[in-house]
Amino acid sequence: MRWHGQRIDETDAQALPGMENRTGFLRTVTTPEFAGMTFHEVLAKSALNHVPGPSKMPFDWTINPYRGCSHACFYCFARGTHTYLDLDAGHDFDSQIVVKVNVAETLETELRRGSWRHETVALGTNTDPYQRAEGRYRLMPGIIRALADSGTPFSVLTKGTLIRRDIPLLVEAATHVPVDVQLSIAMFDESLREAIEPGAPSTQARLDTVRALSDAGFRVGVFLMPILPHLTDSVGAIDGALRRIAEAGADHVIYGALHLRAGVKPWFLQWLSEHRPDLLSSYRELYPGTAAEAPKDYRKWLARRVRPLIRLHSLEALHSDDRPARGSRTTTGAGAGVRQAPVPTLF
Ligand code: SF4
Repeated sequence: MRWHGQRIDETDAQALPGMENRTGFLRTVTTPEFAGMTFHEVLAKSALNHVPGPSKMPFDWTINPYRGCSHACFYCFARGTHTYLDLDAGHDFDSQIVVKVNVAETLETELRRGSWRHETVALGTNTDPYQRAEGRYRLMPGIIRALADSGTPFSVLTKGTLIRRDIPLLVEAATHVPVDVQLSIAMFDESLREAIEPGAPSTQARLDTVRALSDAGFRVGVFLMPILPHLTDSVGAIDGALRRIAEAGADHVIYGALHLRAGVKPWFLQWLSEHRPDLLSSYRELYPGTAAEAPKDYRKWLARRVRPLIRLHSLEALHSDDRPARGSRTTTGAGAGVRQAPVPTLF
């Protein structure tokens, strides 16, 4: 476990295995409103994480107020990180959530440092900041205020409709700094959505959230990823998805094929064997051994299929210089606007 900081309690019998005496650990909480879930409250020494090494990402810094994610997507690339906590990458990732209860205060301190260069900070690149726990802990308002007050641009990527609670705050923040908001929506067949993202809001609820954010003035991006081979990659499925995204008022779409890192691959293949055993051998061919990415040929084939449809629905991810703002909140600060498509990070 990587937390460091001040220890408050002596020990906790329900603590994560091996964490009973760790510094930074506060307490373990279960509550009837969140049946089946356990929250592990910790004090984080730092809030800002530097993206290591040379990165293709359009940001150098991230904040993750939670570890684990109750949205429980079976394809989630972050699952493997839960094993660092002596927890499994499966059900534990979905239900044992580590909460950095002091994240906003720690962030304020870090942003006050003279060395801070106000680079863009990304939220939602590892686990979802608007997952269910956020309804209880309300960490995001403090984070948003701290970033805006310090003059730090930021982006938020989420599947959580809870972001609607913070729209007034995001609008206010966007009068000070560039703010990008993106919704992750990739399953447009509700029964598939329910099976593969069992803890996440429905597709329609997320599209309604796109509309609410768009009405508030944001140029909302939609991450249409992961696209699942043989499940969501037909012309009909992609065209239907893009039509609904466009109707919801999204500004642009970023797409990507399923990515299966080592930590998530067994979990995903187990899901596939239960729900679509007929596709197992095909997926094993596409993602053999330790391969995380779909083969180049498949990705090229997918690009030929998706890109014209994205253009058809006027949902291209362009640089801010290429497209006039539609009353965008992201254009209020220097360097604001729709950024070039980042390399897929969530999947
Ligand atoms: S993919 Fe995103 S929303 Fe889904 S479980 Fe992972 S972090 Fe949560």
